[in-house]
Parts: sequence; C-alpha cells; structure tokens
Amino acid sequence: MKKILVLLAIALSPVVLFAQPGQEPKDTSWKKVYRATSTKINDLVHTRLEVRFDYDKAWMYGKEWLTVKPHFYTTDSLTLDAKGMDIKEVAIMKGTTKSPLKYDYDGMMLRITLDKLYKGGENYTVYIDYISKPNEVKVKGSAAINDAKGLYFINPKGEEKDKPTQIWTQGETEANSVWMPTIDKPNQKTTDEIYMTVPAKYVTLSNGLLISQKKNADGTRTDYWKMDLPHSPYLFFMGVGDYKIIKDSYKGKEVSYYVEPEQAPYARGVFGLTPEMIKFYSDRLGIDYPWQKYNQIVGRDYVSGAMENTTTTLHQESAYQNARQLTDGNSWETVIAHELFHQWFGDLVTAESWSNITVNETMADYSQTLWMEYKYGKDAGDDENYQGMTQYLSNPNEAKKDLVRFRYSDKEDVFDLVSYQKGGRVQHMLRNFVGDDAYFKSLNNYLNTNKFKNGEAHQMRLAFEEVTGKDLSWYWNQWYFGNGHPVVKIDYNYDDAAGKAMVIIEQVQKTDKIFKLPLAIDVYNGAAKKRYNVWAENKIDTFTFSYTKRPDLINVDADKITLWQKTDNKTAENFIHQLKYAPLYLDRREALDYFSKKGMKELAEGLKDKYAPLREYTLNKLTAGKLAGDADVLKATEALVAKEKNKKAKAAAISLLVKTGDTKYAVIYKANVNDSSYSVSGAALNGLASLEPANAYELAKKYSSDAKGDLGEAVDGIIMENGTEADFDFIANRFDKAPLSQSKFQSMDAFCDYLSKMGNTSNIKKGIDMVIKFRDAIPENFRNFTDPAIKEALGRISKAKGSEIADYIKSLWK
Ligand SMILES: [Zn+2]
Repeated sequence: MKKILVLLAIALSPVVLFAQPGQEPKDTSWKKVYRATSTKINDLVHTRLEVRFDYDKAWMYGKEWLTVKPHFYTTDSLTLDAKGMDIKEVAIMKGTTKSPLKYDYDGMMLRITLDKLYKGGENYTVYIDYISKPNEVKVKGSAAINDAKGLYFINPKGEEKDKPTQIWTQGETEANSVWMPTIDKPNQKTTDEIYMTVPAKYVTLSNGLLISQKKNADGTRTDYWKMDLPHSPYLFFMGVGDYKIIKDSYKGKEVSYYVEPEQAPYARGVFGLTPEMIKFYSDRLGIDYPWQKYNQIVGRDYVSGAMENTTTTLHQESAYQNARQLTDGNSWETVIAHELFHQWFGDLVTAESWSNITVNETMADYSQTLWMEYKYGKDAGDDENYQGMTQYLSNPNEAKKDLVRFRYSDKEDVFDLVSYQKGGRVQHMLRNFVGDDAYFKSLNNYLNTNKFKNGEAHQMRLAFEEVTGKDLSWYWNQWYFGNGHPVVKIDYNYDDAAGKAMVIIEQVQKTDKIFKLPLAIDVYNGAAKKRYNVWAENKIDTFTFSYTKRPDLINVDADKITLWQKTDNKTAENFIHQLKYAPLYLDRREALDYFSKKGMKELAEGLKDKYAPLREYTLNKLTAGKLAGDADVLKATEALVAKEKNKKAKAAAISLLVKTGDTKYAVIYKANVNDSSYSVSGAALNGLASLEPANAYELAKKYSSDAKGDLGEAVDGIIMENGTEADFDFIANRFDKAPLSQSKFQSMDAFCDYLSKMGNTSNIKKGIDMVIKFRDAIPENFRNFTDPAIKEALGRISKAKGSEIADYIKSLWK
C-alpha cells in the first residue's frame, strides 16, 4: 500500500508522507501489548461469493460458501470477522443441502458452532447469507468510520454532477471483512470465486480471471471472477464502474488499465511501462510474474495512494495525467513500480503479521530505486534512494521505532517512514554489502521458499544466510529489531612529514547504541583513487593511510549507501575535487550543497551536470541565493534555456531569469509561455507577469481552462492578484470547481486575499461559503494540518472587512 496525503505534499511532485497527522494518543497502554501473530485455529481454503449491490442504500447483498479446515487441532467452532453486517442465515453444507448452524454475532465477530468436531486438515464448508452495510460500520461503539469501510460506494445515486458512480474496495489492513465474512488476517490464504451482479452498463474487476458473463432479465449482468491461486483476504478486490479498458500484455498474460473514458488517450502514457517493469522484476528476481494477469484501475475518492490487491492494483486519481503533465515526467511511475513489486513481496509471500509489514513495504519501497536505476541509470536510482533517506530523516520521531515492531497503538501505524523509507535504505546497504548476485539470489530464495505462504523478517534473514554463507544476525538485530541510525562526525588529519592521513569517525547519536558499519573509503590523487574497505564499529574509529603526496580527497562511504546523518569536515578544495572526480550522484550533490551554503561560485558548475535533476537542483539553489544576479551565471542560464531538453530544468532556468526582473528576458518568456510543459509555461507566465502584468493577466485568463501544476498555480496567482470585482464569478468558479488537492489548498490563500479586496458583501460571503465547503471536504484526520492555515486566511478577510464578515465566518466554522 502507498499512503499519499495529497493535501500535505509540499513539493510539486507528489511527496509521499506516511506519518499520520494527529496527536500522539495520550493512552500509552498499548506499549505493554505484544502484537502476536494471529493464532490459526481454522485455515481458509476457498471463498465463493455471490454479491449484488444496492446503490440506493449503499448496501451489498452477499451469499458466501466458505471452505475451511482446522489448522491442526480438532475443533467444533469457527470464528469469523464480519464487521457491521446483518447475518440472515448460517448453515453447514452437506453436498448441496444446507443444515442450519447455531451462531452468535456481536456486530464484529461471527462465532459459529459447528455440527460436529472437525479434525485438523478436514475440510468443511459453511454457508452465510448476509447484508454488508459499509456506511453503518462502527468500531467499538464509536461513530461510523471513514477509513476502514472496506467497501466504498462513490456517488451511488448519481447526485454529484461531474463525478462518476463507482464501487471499489480497500482491504488493508483488516477491512475486507466489512463485505465478506472471513478470517481477516494476513497469515490466512484462500483461493476464491466471486459472482458480481451489477447494472449491465458497468464493467467489473476482481482478482484472477473473468471466466464468464451472463446477462440477466432485469437489466443486470453477472460476472464470474475466479482466482485459483491462494492469497490473503486483505488482497481481495472488487471494482465496478464505467471504465475504458486499455490492454497490453506480458508473455500472453493480460496487462490492462481501467480508466475513465476521457482518460483513455493518456492511459498508456501513465501506465504503459508496466509490461517492461514486469519483465524487469521477473528477470531480477528469477521468478516470472506469478499471477494470471495484471490490471490497474483508478478509483475516485480513493482513501489511500495505491493498493496492491492481487492481480488488481487500485490507484487514486492522482495517477491521471494528461499529455502536458506527462511532458514534465510521469509523477506516478514509482508508485506503479512499487505496487507491481508487491505482487511478489506482499501478495506471493505475505507478511505474517502487521508487525512484520517490512517484508512487504520495505521491499516495495526499495523496488522504486531498482526500477529507476534500471530504466534511467545509476544517478536516477541513487536520487530515488537519497529521497527516501531524506524523507525518513526528516521526522526525528521515526528514529525511536524498530523496523519490526511488536508494539504499536494501531495496526495502521506501521505504515510509516520506517517500514518504507528507512527499510528501503536498509535493503540498499544490504545489497551493497553482499553484492548484486548474492542479493538477488537471496530474494529469489526467500520468494521460492515461502511462495503462497507467509514470511517474517527472520525468513528473509535465513534466505540471505543460506545464499551467502554469512551469519547476518548482527545486521538484522541492528537494523530490523533495533531502532535509530548513526549520527557521525568525520574529521581528517594530515601529517605530511610522516606521510600519514587519518580519518576519524565519531558516532555522536544520543543513544547508547553504537552501529557496526562496513565502509568503503576512496583516497584520491588527481583522478586516480585507491579503495580501502573498513569497519566503523566503535564510538570513535580512526583509520590511517600512508601517502607520498597529500591526497586531494578522502571520500568516506565512497559508494554513498550508508543511512546516517553526517557532518563531513572536508575542505572547499576537497569538495571541488569531489565534484570533478568522484563519480556518484551524491558525491556531486554534496559538493553542490557545500558551494551553495558557502556562496561559492563553483555552484554554477552544477549547470553542466549530466543528470538533469541535478541541473534543476543547481538552478533552484542559485535562484534562492545571491549568485542569481551573477553575469556568468545568467549567461550560462540563458544558454541552458535555449538547449535544455528536460522541462523541469528548463522551467527552473526560466525562474532564475525571472528573479532578475530584467526586461531583456521578456522575449524568452514570450517564446516559452506556450510550451507544452505546464512547468515551462508557468515559469514563463510568471516572468511575463513581473514585466507586463496586464498582458500576463489576459494570458492567464486564456490559459485557465487548461492549467495544471505550475501553470495552474501561476494562473491562479495572477488572476487573483489582478482580478477586479467584475471577475468574481470567473475567479470564484475556478476555485470552487478545482478538485480537492494540494494546489487548491495553496490557491485558497490567494483566493482569500482576493476576497479581502472586494467590496460586494454578498460576493464575499459566497466566496467564504466556498472556502468553508472546501474545508469541510477535507478528511477529518488531515484537519489538524489544514485548519490553522484556512482559519488564518479567513481571518485576513475578517480583518479587512469588519465585524459583519467576521461574525459570518464564525457562524459557519464548526
Ligand atoms: Zn506498498
């Protein structure tokens, strides 16, 4: 699963945040609770469902034949998760005849007394007739829940214009038991068949293959989906709606994309690399894609980022991108890779408990680095890896959590920066330590040994130990069953008389834990370098190297793989040498960072970097600093605008020119304002706005019907800043119609400032209504973050307009 809180994304590309907003729960009794793997009394064997949907009531009518067997010990009872249902009938099947069973149901658990004792391994089938009521499910007597309904009816009565009617399900963690009685634990696996009866105008999607379709006399159709390989209940999926199906294939298996009809022209632009990804991961893992097919579907109002249901990944709407967005790069590509990799790590071998979610999510996170490295080269892979490390390090709270976590407040809490981003880096270091061949052979060993079963972190350790012949307990104890990361200070001492260089590495983290770190150290003379492999494993480690000529650079962690925070006390000359001769993405980035911090002109060297995102990075640093006005920098930037192929780097170059306010660049802005890229067009439009505001205002209005991303933000800003009373309908409509998103959150600020300038009280109130409506549409768990900013912006209107408006806002704010 990938949890993406779109509203909180700070950068322009989707930033993935896993830390759930909200206060730390005051009740800490959970710290005493050991979260054991669920005991298996009965094992699921096969699930057969017949379902039809009541769109008016948002209910689902279900009949289930559940085949189960006692795991080992003889038993005469079966307990199922069945959340918020009406249970109509429970029976045991004897051939085709039903004989009623006694049961007890408390709204969450269905406790069935069987007709006799069943021995370990003895199959039996229970029949359950039920109604699923996802909108009425309550957890522990509290209010109806929003994030674990399992089954979601989107616009079921068609009352919301501009929104299609859809149904989709979300199982992880234990929510599919809202729509099917089951043992809703990840350490259960079952094959399944689902007969879905839906209005004939819709398509359906579920796990496995569509075996048959039958038209019914009442205008409905029944689709029969069959999954003949076992998978966990949380990976079950159903989707229903008006979708176009774009089909690709991989070795004769269907690979397809379910998108809303108007998105069909762009489906391949977004998802089209999927067959290549399947081949890449199949080859790397030495296990061909293990399922019957692979579908991806996009769901409206989806509560998470994306979910790896077996053979059927569900994505949120952010996956949709038009041709202009795609020229800036596919922002959803790593999510697509991540979910696909779960088909092996998560679906084929499944975490046996939520405490062990690392064997799913860490691997899927790391698959993003593997894909980027394969597809776009080592710099792109290293970039992806470093982004993950930065995200983990950005939240100091995460350093307190073990990667494998037997204690947590809520099972949803394990989907965080530790299980994903930190874990991904732990895998990256492991791969470097054991070597590529051993690494992928070990993954293959883990998958082959545990396929169609479950795994925990120890199974992964054993798989690596078996392949490499090395004891790896120390590594797992340090990184999987322990918390934190090293914080180091690196110092250098040169004694030219003795011809000795000393590297002193001190671990200064505020815990007692000292990390054991294999480190490569490269010692440079000119372009030549010599590598030393050492271990840092004490509070202070000192490594001594002999030299005849003082080294130009000593590069610690020369493969740039270590997960740590470091203060590396190199000199400016060292960093100049590093930028020139050290080969890796992070070598160059660290040097550029240093130049930027010190205001050194060498920063401009980054404009020549071979990797476009580093050129863009350099431009952003230059723009933010004093060098933006430097004549040489401007000359180089102007040249870059002319030849830069990467749209984001080009946009960053234009933005640097905009900062000068120099009228001579107007010609550049005019030449680029119609660019197909929203980034380039947006940057150029901002440039025009700074020189020719009236002209830019007219253009912004013209572009407003097709303006997303940077162009959307530029258009909003310009229109609201320059808009008059007469533009109210246009501006207010544009705000009101914008979908719930990060950019709407940003434009809310400018919209409130615009309202502050207006004189027409009825219009101001209409605008305030729209802001309140926007606020109310934000899911409650995000409001801790969004409410203060919205309140503040509305406060500015109150301040400008006086008590009538202030009272009006007060009356609406709840
Ligand atoms: Zn995931």
